[in-house]
Amino acid sequence: MTMTHDAIVIGTGQAGPFLAQRLAGVGMKVAIIERKLFGGTCVNTGCTPTKTMVASAYAAHIVRRAADFGVVNNGSASVDMKLVKSRKEAISEKSRTGVENWLRGMTNCTVYQEHGRFESAKEITVGSERLTADRIFINVGGRAVLPQMPGIEGVPHLNNSSIMDVDFLPRHLIIIGGGYIGLEFAQMYRRFGSEVSIIETASHLAQHEDEDVSTAIRQILEHEGIKVRLNATCIGFSRRGEDILAHVECASGDPEVSGSHVLLAVGRRPNTDDLGLAEAGAAVDKRGYIVVDQLHTSVPGIWALGDCNGKGAFTHTAFNDAEIVGVNLLDNDPRKVSDRITAYALYIDRRLGRAGLTEAAVRKSARHALIGRRPMTKVRRAVEKGETQGFMKIIVDAQTHEVLGAAILGTGGDEAIHSILDVMYAGELQPLSDGAGAPK
Ligand SMILES: Cc1cc2nc3c(=O)[nH]c(=O)nc-3n(C[C@H](O)[C@H](O)[C@H](O)COP(=O)(O)OP(=O)(O)OC[C@H]3O[C@@H](n4cnc5c(N)ncnc54)[C@H](O)[C@@H]3O)c2cc1C
Repeated sequence: MTMTHDAIVIGTGQAGPFLAQRLAGVGMKVAIIERKLFGGTCVNTGCTPTKTMVASAYAAHIVRRAADFGVVNNGSASVDMKLVKSRKEAISEKSRTGVENWLRGMTNCTVYQEHGRFESAKEITVGSERLTADRIFINVGGRAVLPQMPGIEGVPHLNNSSIMDVDFLPRHLIIIGGGYIGLEFAQMYRRFGSEVSIIETASHLAQHEDEDVSTAIRQILEHEGIKVRLNATCIGFSRRGEDILAHVECASGDPEVSGSHVLLAVGRRPNTDDLGLAEAGAAVDKRGYIVVDQLHTSVPGIWALGDCNGKGAFTHTAFNDAEIVGVNLLDNDPRKVSDRITAYALYIDRRLGRAGLTEAAVRKSARHALIGRRPMTKVRRAVEKGETQGFMKIIVDAQTHEVLGAAILGTGGDEAIHSILDVMYAGELQPLSDGAGAPK
């Protein structure tokens, strides 16, 4: 038997539940499908658990630095990984069950806990059931890429999901990938007490950032004893006794790094390979991301939101996709994804908050720009907290004074960046006035 709904949502990540609530709230009959854990990546294997671990790692770091603040202890801190893990799980579980209970208690919404798959543009099979709707919203997210590196199958390796089960301290964690996820894990495990080596094929860490930002990030991490190997040309693996060897083939230095555990953090891929998109007729790009035009797929009546559309890789971008589709459909509001200003944070300590264009992108565009820089050593809050690493940088159009982009690498950078984002959304940055309204 086929169950008819007004709308079907596949996935309960950061977009699906909110959109389901909006649609059900206006009386639509909604089905929402989740094949695994309610709340998706962010709640279970992404933002939430990693931020609890970052918090544990920060606590250990501050205990070790206690004397800097005049607090007397013996200057050492050891970390009980079982307790770190159980704290993380308690917080994640609360969010997960919160999402599940919210959806199950939602008027006009039916929850299906199975894998969903398109049979046609309007039909989905969920386990033994078949659902149909005129509007289908895909929010299937993504997962860690398993890179094709020589020897990878012969050594145990972790990714962002499996590392969630680790309740011991790896002696030496080798992290493949110097992007946002790799860097967060690198610093937290170093602070837990592991030796940590990062291996990256690019010439700098967080390779999408400006080189000055990336260099400062590297200095922060190396200052804590993390080893960084850049320009790795051919990464492969083998075993030597108990150890795992990561072969690096770098231009200089040891051609291999020896460690006890490997974390792969080399990118994400969308969960679109087992979704039946060909049966629906929806186009994907060569990496499997669903092709969208303002969140509409190539098939009328099907939308794709969140990480699976390649338009963002963050919780707030997925959530914002749901806000946009909701207001487009229900409020006659023409808001578009292309109105969104790039904004994100890198959760190492010191945080990196980013908004808009990088300096490199502005230089490439040949726009005349003014660039302001200020080291965190000149920021009173940073000095008072004893957290003076990093700097802030803002790039402003020389003619219009429009803020083009900013990076705040420093204490509280993830929050302070919002003041710049507000200005960017508001429009031009006005020159400082003398208080009487006249620009100086
Ligand atoms: C380690 C890590 C740390 C991160 N930290 C941050 C952070 O601090 N801040 C931030 O903004 N972002 C962070 N992110 C990114 C963030 O987690 C994602 O951008 C966000 O979760 C994307 O949400 P989504 O709704 O697109 O998909 P997801 O959250 O991935 O949810 C998709 C859901 O769909 C389900 N699903 C998939 N296929 C099917 C199917 N066929 N049938 C039924 N259900 C299906 C999945 O089980 C999953 O529950 C982090 C990611 C990682 C990996």
